Amino acid sequence: MEPCTPRRGLLTLAIETSCDDTCVAILEKQKSGFARLHFNEKITSDNRAFRGVHPLVAVASHSENLAPLVQKALRSLPSPVGIRPSQDVNSDGQTILVDGRPRLRPDFISVTRGPGMASNLATGLNHAKGLAVAWDVPLLAVNHMQAHALTPRLVSALEAEKLAFKPKNEEDASSQQPQSPQFPFLSLLVSGGHTMLVHSKSLNDHAILAESINIAVGDMIDKCARLIIPSDILSADTSDSGAYGPIFEEFAFPGSTESASYDYNYTPPARRADEIKRFDSGQGWVLTPPLHLKGMGEEAASQFEFAGLNGHVQKLITLRSDMDVDSRRVLARATMTLVFEHLTTRLVFALQSNNNKSRKRNKIGTVVLSGGVASNKFLRHVVRKLLDARGLTDIEVIAPPVALCTDNAAMIAWTAMEMYEDGWRSDLDILTMRKWPLDPKAEGGGILDASGWYRVPMPKE
Ligand code: AMP
Ligand code: ZN
Repeated sequence: MEPCTPRRGLLTLAIETSCDDTCVAILEKQKSGFARLHFNEKITSDNRAFRGVHPLVAVASHSENLAPLVQKALRSLPSPVGIRPSQDVNSDGQTILVDGRPRLRPDFISVTRGPGMASNLATGLNHAKGLAVAWDVPLLAVNHMQAHALTPRLVSALEAEKLAFKPKNEEDASSQQPQSPQFPFLSLLVSGGHTMLVHSKSLNDHAILAESINIAVGDMIDKCARLIIPSDILSADTSDSGAYGPIFEEFAFPGSTESASYDYNYTPPARRADEIKRFDSGQGWVLTPPLHLKGMGEEAASQFEFAGLNGHVQKLITLRSDMDVDSRRVLARATMTLVFEHLTTRLVFALQSNNNKSRKRNKIGTVVLSGGVASNKFLRHVVRKLLDARGLTDIEVIAPPVALCTDNAAMIAWTAMEMYEDGWRSDLDILTMRKWPLDPKAEGGGILDASGWYRVPMPKE
């Protein structure tokens, strides 16, 4: 019998339980930089009876679902080549038995340590510690927000794999492909819980350039959508999730979500000063852009604000509850336009101020739009148009697939993979971190300022 074929790449099992999704993934990464996702599933706790995530219900859901989901994931671990089921596979330390069949044992266990809800995180972290101890492999307990920021690099590694890269020879197989996008890049994380502009300078150095001072953009969109969209259209929506973004987009621009070349008839503000001009509907109501009194100095450029416009829209529609569908559509478009321009003006400011003062290697060439709101095609359109209008035509704008932008364990696996390859490991006695800033300049420090990291010497190439 031939010995077990040496593994080509690194294999990890990842767990994410920071909020209401119980997620497990199995990711393999080859030395060349290409990755394969063997498993990536999630089970979301049922929050329909509550206005948002109910912490106890979510913890119960993790406790109920995590072990069976891990058990299911193990069946997707790659099989070793050249091992008979009857062979004593455990003795080589590289394989485990799953349903009586030999499978490659993960090289390390990845898990979310924070930020998130403490008890929810603990369910995942304790399970991960158990697996790491049982298999005698390292634990990598990573930052959830770092994982969101690194997601486009995971996507590029997976896409390269999908293109069926087959190394022609050994040299080819071990030649490292540069991960894309390369640092530095900017990410606009726009979701139901976050609105953040992140400057990712290296694996562990992510500066927060702008953040919402009150509610998140997705939350605002959901609140406005509930009032603006006529009730017969709303009640026909069967998603039950409380996330109205997709129907809001379709209501504002009928047919756009299915069309490859929709004409939004959108003209970006010609000058900087026009970015804070009021929108006049010509129907007796106006909308004021967020933070319009602040102009666009350093302070305003580091802030997103959505509660004000949300309050304004709520008041307007409550006072004009008899608005017909066409007027509601005008209001939906105006709301979306002001919100997306508000996001983009901060992006433009960040790009211009960084790229005007940086040397070539520190200039930003890529902007990543991620989070649930980034699936909005009109947002992508506004970003592109406004960047072009400000002379930033050479900036690439990318939007990873939504399934990888919302909470998932594949991004945790990828982040742990990058950390592992950089020599980082987590102590087994670490605790969860409810708060864990990304930015090293934030109070309490950034990713590496958490206790419990240790570094192993890197093997020489
Ligand atoms: P996440 O928190 O990343 O799961 O994203 C969920 C948020 O994204 C919710 O607030 C949704 O309403 C919002 N969202 C999803 N799709 C869209 C869309 N097409 N347009 C605007 N918002 C959206
Ligand atoms: Zn998240």
